[in-house]
Order: sequence, then C-alpha cells, then structure tokens
Amino acid sequence: MNKLINELKKRVFAANVKLSKSGLIVSTFGNVSEKITIGNSIYIGIKPSGMPYEKMTEDDIVILTDEGELIEGKLKPSSDTPTHLYLYKQIDRIQGITHSHSPYATAWAQAGFSIPCYGTTHADYDSSEIICTDDLSEDMIENKYEYNTGVSIHNALKENNKINANMVLVKSHGPFTFGDSANDSVDNAIHLEEISKIAFLSKNLNSSIKQIGMKLQSKHYDRKHGKNKYYGQ
Ligand SMILES: [Zn+2]
Repeated sequence: MNKLINELKKRVFAANVKLSKSGLIVSTFGNVSEKITIGNSIYIGIKPSGMPYEKMTEDDIVILTDEGELIEGKLKPSSDTPTHLYLYKQIDRIQGITHSHSPYATAWAQAGFSIPCYGTTHADYDSSEIICTDDLSEDMIENKYEYNTGVSIHNALKENNKINANMVLVKSHGPFTFGDSANDSVDNAIHLEEISKIAFLSKNLNSSIKQIGMKLQSKHYDRKHGKNKYYGQ
C-alpha cells in the first residue's frame, strides 16, 4: 500500500506543478487531485490548502479516504476538497479532478453562459455545449458550500445528459475538469481554457454565430473518443 500511496503523491504533486506552470493560474489558485483504489478502499491525493506551489513538496500532498478521513499529511487539504470527494463518489469513472480560475473559462462562468460548440477544436473534446451550472441557493451557500458546489455540478451534468463530460463551469466561480488521472484532468483544464478563449473571440467577431451542426460535432468527437477512434494530431 505504501508504494501505491507514494506514487499517488508523486503524480498529484507533478500535476499541481504542471497546473501552476501552465499559465492558467496565479498565486495559490487552483487545485488538482487523483483517486485510486487499493483493495476495497478508495484514496484521494489532493493539494494542501493555501500552499505556494514553489514551496510544495511531494510529502505535502494530503491523502484522504473517499469519506474525507485523513490518512497522511501534516497540512490541511485544499478547501475545495468536499467538492472533489462528492464528485468522485457520484461519478465513478472520474479519477482526476482539476479546478482553476483560468481567465477565459472563468469569464464564461461569471457571465453564466454554457459554451456553445462553435467549431471543431471544441468538438474534439466535448460533444455539445460545455455546461454552466445553476446558481446555488442561499442555503446551499450558507451550509456546506464546497460540498454543495459538487452537488450543483453533478446535478447540471445529469440534467443536461452530460454525465460523461470532462469539462464544466460553475456559475459565478470557475471551471472544473475531469480525467483518467490528475495529469489528464490538468490537460483538460488547458484544453478548456483554449476552447473558452476561441469561443469568446468567435462570438465577438460574429455575435449571431451558431453552434456547428451535429454531424460535424459528432464526427470530431467520435474520431477522437468514439468506439472506432483514429485521430491523432
Ligand atoms: Zn475556486
């Protein structure tokens, strides 16, 4: 078990460093986690709260059970930990989560808009709109805010039939991305920021722009992610 936990810490540390060097975030913004299963138990490795990236080491990565019980780590886990834990529990396939406040994705989130699929760069990663969640109620903000952020993400994905999506915007807040590992979820955060930027520019050039047709959307998504995927650039 110790070897697997140490490897988890290494991967989560590397993914957090990758996020900090990606240009998506400033200061201590953002956090990355990964979930692994050992025997019948599920463990989560996550960034410690408020720790400057340049001072962080592998040993600072906090290890928790999927119920949030501390297994290893001297520091407090990221304050967004309840959001991560809720999503890991509800959506089993997710093994990595990245949260950032990257400017273009956050601008769409603050505007309260889902990102329409305006072109094939978007369609390569998501088969339709990138969903923006609904507002949290005052009660959801007052009590268990971070947990309820997870609830609002899960509800938005379910209601929009997007439970397999790897990109989502939390209204008035910012993006969360998912993946098969911590590293994969950081890559999706980088892709989402680029998609958000291109969509913003496209909408500004042509305010009456429409989503591309389903045929072109499906062609691009399926050639990269579908059963008979074949695409590599
Ligand atoms: Zn945040």
